[in-house]
Amino acid sequence: MTRKPLSYYQSMPEETLRHRIDSIRRRMGSRLRILVHYYQKEEILAIADDVGDSFGLSAAASKSGCEAILFCGVRFMAETADILANANREGDNRVTVVAPNPDAGCRMADMATLAELENAWRLIGEAVGTDGLVPVTYVNSSAEVKAFCGMHGGYACTSSNALAVMRRVFANPDSRVFFLPDQHLGRNVAAWMGFPPEQVVSYHGGNSVVRKNVEHLVADGFLPAGSVEELAPAGALDRGALRAAKVILWDGFCPLHQRFTVAQIDRVRQARPEVSVVVHPECPREVVAAADQAGSTKKILDLVAAAPDGAVWAIGTERRMVEALQRDFPTKTVLPLSDELPMCYSMNTITLASVCRALEGIESGHPDGVVTVEREIAQPALLALERMLQCKG
Ligand code: SF4
Repeated sequence: MTRKPLSYYQSMPEETLRHRIDSIRRRMGSRLRILVHYYQKEEILAIADDVGDSFGLSAAASKSGCEAILFCGVRFMAETADILANANREGDNRVTVVAPNPDAGCRMADMATLAELENAWRLIGEAVGTDGLVPVTYVNSSAEVKAFCGMHGGYACTSSNALAVMRRVFANPDSRVFFLPDQHLGRNVAAWMGFPPEQVVSYHGGNSVVRKNVEHLVADGFLPAGSVEELAPAGALDRGALRAAKVILWDGFCPLHQRFTVAQIDRVRQARPEVSVVVHPECPREVVAAADQAGSTKKILDLVAAAPDGAVWAIGTERRMVEALQRDFPTKTVLPLSDELPMCYSMNTITLASVCRALEGIESGHPDGVVTVEREIAQPALLALERMLQCKG
């Protein structure tokens, strides 16, 4: 069935789009669930059945019990929803997971491919062995990377429960962790676990998205000149450092959260001495150490919600989230940590027009943008995700 192009919906007035969306939601009732990440626009948040961060939305997907999920987030989130929602379903019984823009990816997730991870595992194995080495992948990763972790006794984690996952792994003191793709979340959690820097080593897999984003950050002044040249040759290993390591970090990062700096924290403290600073743990270690608090999107929300009227918070995370806090808590002062708060452009590609088009496809039984993870990948990835959901943050 040929669907009308997105431009057809983009030419509609917002009121018409809202009316069409509301009508479909009414007609489909509990057969449809709309899951929306906190980083979405206000008008998308307004049509959500569930709003959450990666952990909350994963849990919602695993308990959905509907026929179709519209996932307003980036691709790895829709893949995760497909794996969890269809854990015990087959054939006609499967939940159809649709993304309004299935091409909306996550640059951090793109920083680690399965081939690069397999190569790294082999090289580390040849250098120091992989006995006791547990792969832990931030949920911001491809289904293939999660599947590798599931197959090797490893875990997925979110920023809400990364510490709980690491505690679970290190309940066995002989364990070591290979953490990917986010070096900053891994380094922050390792520090909270009490591991000294010499027990935390970096691994460069030669990923081209890492290199390109380091180049951009150097050009924009957020990383020092020479950072590209300092990237180790792909797969280079220091056996001595690896032998001492309890945590090996992939060198991926979120290009947005990399833009928060200690200088920004110093500036806001000077301007508003009463301020409390909270940042996301995808920020670099020195930024997290300089802040008053660090935590997942949900934790940031809970902190601001629980603060007394008149409290002043500076927030170091994605722009839409900060705007939502400013909107939802008018009796508190919510300041952006940096003057130019970074926005996740992939998240921002989702609009009422793309949502309306996707919903009409779902209702017609011929949706575009269906996200399906192949069974041979979904099954081992599910192992890593189920281990993740067992670890509460
Ligand atoms: S904010 Fe960063 S980590 Fe989150 S989806 Fe966007 S690029 Fe990925």
